[in-house]
Amino acid sequence: MSDHDHDHEHGHDHDHGDHDHDHAGHDHENDQEHDHDDRAELQARRRVALSQIRQYGDPVLRMRANEVEAFDEELARLTERMTGLMHDAEGVVLAATQVGILRRLFVFHDEGEDRVIVNPVLTVRGKESEVDEEGCLSLGPIRMPVERAVEVTLDGFDAEGKAVHLELEGMSARVVQHELDHLDGKMIIDRTDPDSRREAMAQLRPRLVLTR
Ligand SMILES: [Zn+2]
Repeated sequence: MSDHDHDHEHGHDHDHGDHDHDHAGHDHENDQEHDHDDRAELQARRRVALSQIRQYGDPVLRMRANEVEAFDEELARLTERMTGLMHDAEGVVLAATQVGILRRLFVFHDEGEDRVIVNPVLTVRGKESEVDEEGCLSLGPIRMPVERAVEVTLDGFDAEGKAVHLELEGMSARVVQHELDHLDGKMIIDRTDPDSRREAMAQLRPRLVLTR
């Protein structure tokens, strides 16, 4: 779910083999400290990304996005920014409405590849559906069961306007159905069962008060 490529250049040598760690307070486990720093950096980046993603209660998440008409430089910049945010937030998918932009597009990470889907059209194949837990970058850590079609076809365009046709199933099919919902102002809280909705609302309400 969060397979970033993050190449770090620490700019200094990890091998302190020549030194004697015989001074009190100097015999750290250097590698552990670095792992800790890396994790802290990723967490900081995640917080920054999440602060740029609209959260539940924001009216833009309830609005229908409009068709994209121009495949221009601006669209390319937007999709790049969204792809970066998606990775920093440790998500696998992000819809334009989640960054406050009412245009029909989303980015998603599928089978090791970053994809951009503009003006997506979803067709359900077959009759099979299944229930599984879903989360959402606009709902914090809350997860809830959602029923989705198992097999779908997704048609649309990439950021350059080239036609995209994807036959998806399982998790990928689930992810694109979640995103199509975002572009229509729908969220998983509308799709889950009544008990899970009540539970989620109970967790969301106190947060809405705090962020006011
Ligand atoms: Zn979502």
